[in-house]
Amino acid sequence: MAPPFQSDMNESSMSPEEFRRFGHRVVDWIADYRARVAAEPVLCRAEPGELLARLPAAPPVEPAGFDAVLRDLDDLLLPALSHWQHPRFFGYFPSNGDLASVLGDFLSTGLGVLGLAWQSAPALTELEQRTTEWLRQMLGLSDAWHGVIQDTASTGSLIAMLCARERDTTPLADKTVYTSGQAHSSIDKAVLLAGFARDRFRKVATDAAFALAPTALRAAVDADLANGLQPTAVIATTGTTTTTAIDPVDACAEVAAAHGAWLHVDAAMAGSAMILPECRTLWHGVERADSIVVNPHKWLGAAFDCSVLFVRDPDHLVRVMSTSPSYLRTTVDDRVVNYRDWGIALGRRFRALKLWSLIVTHGTARLQARLRRDLDNARWLAAEIAAASGWRLCAPVPLQTLCVRHEPAGLQGEALDAHTLAWHDRLTRSGRAWLTPAQLDGRWLVRVSIGALATERSHVEELWRDMQSSVAPAT
Ligand SMILES: *Cc1c(COP(=O)(O)O)cnc(C)c1O
Repeated sequence: MAPPFQSDMNESSMSPEEFRRFGHRVVDWIADYRARVAAEPVLCRAEPGELLARLPAAPPVEPAGFDAVLRDLDDLLLPALSHWQHPRFFGYFPSNGDLASVLGDFLSTGLGVLGLAWQSAPALTELEQRTTEWLRQMLGLSDAWHGVIQDTASTGSLIAMLCARERDTTPLADKTVYTSGQAHSSIDKAVLLAGFARDRFRKVATDAAFALAPTALRAAVDADLANGLQPTAVIATTGTTTTTAIDPVDACAEVAAAHGAWLHVDAAMAGSAMILPECRTLWHGVERADSIVVNPHKWLGAAFDCSVLFVRDPDHLVRVMSTSPSYLRTTVDDRVVNYRDWGIALGRRFRALKLWSLIVTHGTARLQARLRRDLDNARWLAAEIAAASGWRLCAPVPLQTLCVRHEPAGLQGEALDAHTLAWHDRLTRSGRAWLTPAQLDGRWLVRVSIGALATERSHVEELWRDMQSSVAPAT
């Protein structure tokens, strides 16, 4: 007699045996991709809509098999991708998916468990408790902090703003929020989504290093108090997006504490640097904050998405976020963490697996060594640029990101902008490096963000040669 379950499964879904066969091919595919990506042009050359036009407009009715997926991956999808894991990726911020973490993510998906309550996947909850606790120690934070994994910093900051709003009993229309003009766009989004009024959201001036100026913060707060408004939240950024400027957390904490405002620290990028004791002075005062967001899915190497929100008062967070419908209640609720009450989504992926895989595989020592390598490479390039005539560093380099301009004598204003965008365009089109431009004080510059997993000194040296030749186009 034929085993009924076996044949039924084979007809309606991929069997474990088929999965084994294709799974090995997928792993081989990813390993080959990572091994040969350095030889690819880092930026994709597809035109907008090109892939879309090549994909069938309607879904297939008959099974095409996973072979068809692998074929399209090579023929259609890959040519329509730029390569974030490329050694000459210097754009945005590094988004490192260490392969150990990729495997952890794969396991998470393969297990297919959901954390709706502790009981729905106990290991999911307890590994997340333990792993965020490890990360807390790695960052040198005190044991007053409690971590929870979110998808992104955008979500973490939104949750922080909801907590800030709910801790202050002032009418919503009178609540004010402060951050610097260099804060990430996700902060704007979080503040507005949390319901704060647009005209109560202050963008405070920055100093010569593009960090929030405490005198400007105090002046803004004083002016609002004089008008009967209530400072409800201050957001300090350690590692702003354009220049990795470091807001003075201590001074922000001073102001926040004086008025009972919530202090949120956006350390999405620079948080990873805090695994290095020598970097921790950069966020001095962080122990006085109410919440911190750190993205292990950037420089640290956890495969996207994996952002950790640390809070000092999880009871307050749970009061803001909890719901307890009958179908989610269990008999152990008073003895366990139910992470659904620590964020917005009910369903929770087993994200801790990929962070845990990263930390266990490499240990803190190897993670630290890699970040020190990157800081060293950034210092080397900064020194080269500072010494080269016609080149200028437009901002201090506290971490691994450089803001660079080539400024030929006599070129200013819009002509200088045109020159900057032109050499950036030549360099990126060549496929030899991926750099992203940004504006600072209304003028364009080119950011060089070092720290992709595969980036060694030789790649940075090559980049510097390519930058120099790109400003003098062949005629
Ligand atoms: C990257 C970044 C963010 C946004 O991170 P997501 O996880 O993509 O939401 C926010 N703030 C800073 C400072 C960042 O560097």
